[in-house]
Amino acid sequence: MSKPYTIIIGLEVHVQLATKSKLFCGCSTAFGAPPNTQTCPVCIGMPGSLPVMNREAFELSLKTAVALNCEIPRLTKWDRKQYYYPDLPKGYQISQFDLPLSRNGRLPISDPKGLFEPKSIGIIRAHLEEDAGKSMHDEISGKADSRIDLNRTGTPLLEIVSEPDIRSPDEAKTYLTELKLLLNYLGVSDCNMQEGSLRVDANINLHIDTPEGQRVTPIVEVKNMNSFRAVQRALDYEARRQYDVWQETGIAMGARGGHKTTRGWDENAQATVPQRTKEESSDYRYFPDPDLVPVTTTEEQVARIGAGLGELPAALRERLQNTYDITPYDADVLVNQGRGLVDYFVELADGCGDGKMAANWVQQDVLRWLGEQQVGVEAFPISAEVLAGLLKKVQGGELTTSRGRDVLAAMLESGKPLEAVMQALGIESVDQGELETLCSELLAANPKVVENIKEGKLKAIGSLIGQAKRRNPNVNPSQVRETCLRLIEQM
Ligand SMILES: [Zn+2]
Repeated sequence: MSKPYTIIIGLEVHVQLATKSKLFCGCSTAFGAPPNTQTCPVCIGMPGSLPVMNREAFELSLKTAVALNCEIPRLTKWDRKQYYYPDLPKGYQISQFDLPLSRNGRLPISDPKGLFEPKSIGIIRAHLEEDAGKSMHDEISGKADSRIDLNRTGTPLLEIVSEPDIRSPDEAKTYLTELKLLLNYLGVSDCNMQEGSLRVDANINLHIDTPEGQRVTPIVEVKNMNSFRAVQRALDYEARRQYDVWQETGIAMGARGGHKTTRGWDENAQATVPQRTKEESSDYRYFPDPDLVPVTTTEEQVARIGAGLGELPAALRERLQNTYDITPYDADVLVNQGRGLVDYFVELADGCGDGKMAANWVQQDVLRWLGEQQVGVEAFPISAEVLAGLLKKVQGGELTTSRGRDVLAAMLESGKPLEAVMQALGIESVDQGELETLCSELLAANPKVVENIKEGKLKAIGSLIGQAKRRNPNVNPSQVRETCLRLIEQM
């Protein structure tokens, strides 16, 4: 059943860039140091200290903006965003206001299960800014006590603002997953949500169709979501809540507009709850930072960055599908695991000459083991080359698929090489001569079955295969079948 409204969602993502030092000083950005040990006069804003831009942070931002198909203006500048908060001792944050380093980009998204039509989400802008510190309320003493840790102050953040092009919580989750994957492939951030390296704010409202025309609910900004799953749930909840409020009160605007409010996601209650209302953008009194010079970017620089991006997820999915004849779903699973797993798959598929088979074994066996051990593919003890050797034995009929899986499991368990494991499991390859002798003996001992097969009752061959397996567990059923049929034809 279609809903009587359209959900309008725009996402703001803050990504901590993977630089060793902060945006305007040399302090470390490492996570987990004792509070206030990674600060200096610049990042805590002592009078007379002067910021100097971290060139690497700027390059990583450009790289991301180019990968997001953004326009890169030739000139960008720094602005002070004025506000007071205990975790911001300077009294302002250095950000970018009217001349961001990039704008008008897009990120295509699709769902391999077909939850929605493939589409392109617009990127309004991606700009660079410094992070504030962290307030810890009652976390240490358990009493009414607040402390401030300024280690994070001045850490480079790239803020990526999407157009309100997202139409469902599913699309929002897919957009975030695709963006995170892109950032991972680019190597610009570790995207660790638990450590705050990736933070998401969502703007959501509804367009409701009524007999009197379209009604628009006031925009709500939802904060405080610490996983993509939480974003999806919060948006689901918020859409329902806004519709309920509209049905009860009829509060909605005839056109775009109305007060924007802020709500936080309460994970325990599985609900959004009101938060302090954000100041309007004019209240920040942005003005150009007098201590920092504007940054110019040349066309050559952008072209060089574009050429060095490497193969990005969308292109990689397409190549895997086309080159290895695997499904969009399989390509998606492989690419979403990261470059390392894709490289493993490619080597395996090339080694055994069968992309579908390689995709199947990587997903069923390799990924399951990695999941159980909670490690990445670099820790998988069996090289793609060795696994390809095993798959060839399955292709050649020396091992059945299930026997092959037993061998792989035993190799992972014992750490022994392929041949040793096969020997230990009592698996010896049955050569063609041996197989023919066995089949001839069976045919001679089962004249009734042979007669049935000759009359076209092919099912009868099952009894021969069963007998063959009892006499030699190493025989391959499909080879027994083939050989018996050939021998009967020759009779
Ligand atoms: Zn510093």
